[in-house]
Amino acid sequence: MDNWQPSTLSWSFSRKTHFDSCRRHYFFHRFWGQDPKARWRLFEMRNLTTITMLRGQVVHSVIANALQSIRYDIKLDAKTARANITALLRERYGESARRLWHIDNRPPGRKASEITSLLEHYYNFPNLNQRARDAQQVAWQCITNLIESDFWANIENSDPGEWREVEESHFPSFELEGIQVYTTIDFAHANGSPTIIDWKTGTPSEQDRRQLTLYSLYAQKRWEWDPLQTTLQAVYLQPELVVESFTPSLADLESVTEDVKASLNDMAELEPAYGPADIERFPMTQDTSNCAWCRFQGICRMAKRIDLDSTVVSQD
Ligand code: SF4
Repeated sequence: MDNWQPSTLSWSFSRKTHFDSCRRHYFFHRFWGQDPKARWRLFEMRNLTTITMLRGQVVHSVIANALQSIRYDIKLDAKTARANITALLRERYGESARRLWHIDNRPPGRKASEITSLLEHYYNFPNLNQRARDAQQVAWQCITNLIESDFWANIENSDPGEWREVEESHFPSFELEGIQVYTTIDFAHANGSPTIIDWKTGTPSEQDRRQLTLYSLYAQKRWEWDPLQTTLQAVYLQPELVVESFTPSLADLESVTEDVKASLNDMAELEPAYGPADIERFPMTQDTSNCAWCRFQGICRMAKRIDLDSTVVSQD
């Protein structure tokens, strides 16, 4: 008897992105366990990340550690920060290259989902060393720009007693009009006005303002901050450091709330009433420009040729 069930439907920006960009991708990600024959391949693919995503994770991790050090009165210089970036990138890249996530290689006590598995390794992308070097250069630039900035100096000289704990395991989600919404805040403090900061290692996107607005609603639930009085800052770390600040308007808050509700409704309509989800209700995207970077490209290609079972059917 197989009791696999998807998690209770909740909402996050990444889930919305999967859903909007390709329903099939969303299907594989959400209902990965319903087919015992495809389950473990989908689980492997679900954990894939890319070098660009890894670059972002490493920069965020080094910044988080630098902030933690400030609490103990230790200030990180740019050279040490770059060395920390290099060490972490090497470690994470190395565990992917050695396939430590695989059951045959996994160190005792470590979960597969916590071990780096790069899409570029998994699908044998070319020029991997060069891609990794490029990622390191960009990550160095991000951390150098930040650590050498006045923006960072102001943080270093502020009162850590006014900083807020943002460790996601303590408060990973909040309820928005009955919907469980998952978010991760990078940094928040109440030196002066309540402020939420989001470090950005990539280029600005239309979604950034909406994402930060959602964070203000999270902060309302977690710290009882008034969203209309909360300063939101997107800090773009490269090629130059650029800080975009705003305070959300009532219209921003209503618009984001309505978007979350509409998006969750769209997802809920495709949930199975009972039993496994029907893959036919989750078509492949017509815009295949991003398929080369899709985690599930291996099984998606295969699904075009063979029946894996009744839930992963052929697609011509
Ligand atoms: S490979 Fe393309 S079509 Fe298939 S799941 Fe991924 S994004 Fe969708």
